[in-house]
Amino acid sequence: MIAAMQTRKDSGIFTNRRRTVFGKARSDSGKKLGAVLISRPEDVAYLTGFTGEDSFLLIAGGKGWLLTDSRFTEQAQRECPGLEVFTRKGPMAEGVKEVSRQASLKTIAAQADHLTVNQNKALSKVLRRPLVPLNGLLTRLRGLKDRHEVAAIRRAIAIGEHALGTLIAKGRRAFVGRAERDVAAELEYLMRQGGAEKPAFETIVAAGPHGSMPHYRPGDTKIRPGDAVLIDWGAMVGGYAGDLTRVVFTGKISPQLFRIYDVVLKAQRAGIAALWPGKSCKSAHLAAKKVVEDAGYGDKFLHSLGHGLGRNVHEWPSLSWLSKDRLRAGMVVTAEPGIYLPDVGGVRIEDVVLVTPRGPKVLSAMSRSIKDMTLR
Ligand code: ZN
Ligand code: ZN
Repeated sequence: MIAAMQTRKDSGIFTNRRRTVFGKARSDSGKKLGAVLISRPEDVAYLTGFTGEDSFLLIAGGKGWLLTDSRFTEQAQRECPGLEVFTRKGPMAEGVKEVSRQASLKTIAAQADHLTVNQNKALSKVLRRPLVPLNGLLTRLRGLKDRHEVAAIRRAIAIGEHALGTLIAKGRRAFVGRAERDVAAELEYLMRQGGAEKPAFETIVAAGPHGSMPHYRPGDTKIRPGDAVLIDWGAMVGGYAGDLTRVVFTGKISPQLFRIYDVVLKAQRAGIAALWPGKSCKSAHLAAKKVVEDAGYGDKFLHSLGHGLGRNVHEWPSLSWLSKDRLRAGMVVTAEPGIYLPDVGGVRIEDVVLVTPRGPKVLSAMSRSIKDMTLR
């Protein structure tokens, strides 16, 4: 009973999203569009709730067709009660041709930034007219999260935090003497146990000097007493990703690491404080960067302040010096400054922030204090 009500409520959300996409695609293109073809899997999921693979979505006003294959027919019917499920037998282009013929859909817009050259060729051929390019529409829509999406991201964050919290509560014995990859595997296990569908990305556990490589892959290196261990991890829950970074210390910290930890923490605070609607994404990056520069580590902050977070771990907008975008209420972004010292190690602290009309709201709750991150 509850499940059925949930489905009806959810299908309303998806129907509204599909209507918005169709309406905006029409006005953006300035053409008399018959339909919009959605091919990127995350966008299909955003507009349907479908969790399977290899399926395209055609939207024409209030109507929608999910073009799938026989492996997913039953799942699609269960997950997408508001859609017509079309089981294709041949190539995707033939399926699109068949549905557009049945529904008399003529001019079709497609995701130019996702379709392959071959798919574009095949579709233009069967439809006997070129596709209208749809650029960035879904990216921009998905950049603004509704309350259902914010709730999913909060759940993903909470499950991730609980997993690392469990390891930290065990103290040094959960880290010292173990290989980086073992700690990463346990963290991923704890996230799944806590309700995650999977890790949102490959977990980073970087001990000691390895912390200076922002995208290090955990290996066989054993964690030693006195190491700074950089952990960047996140759970995927309800199709939405969490993404946090903490540095835990397995013993007494060197004055150098203590100093950069403090600088990174202050830089993160400055970056978060700049996350107001109407301000530029670039200005938030520069606010954090200035703190790092003033402390003398400007050339050791190797990346941007953060990125949008949602169905993808990295999505629009980017909080980068190259961004020309402005922040808007509803955006969910990470704030993750870092300082990386080759042969010494690295410190990055990453949290997730919702931009609200009343300013930044940090969605993650885990402590960032050096005291709490020092293991007993
Ligand atoms: Zn991260
Ligand atoms: Zn991140």
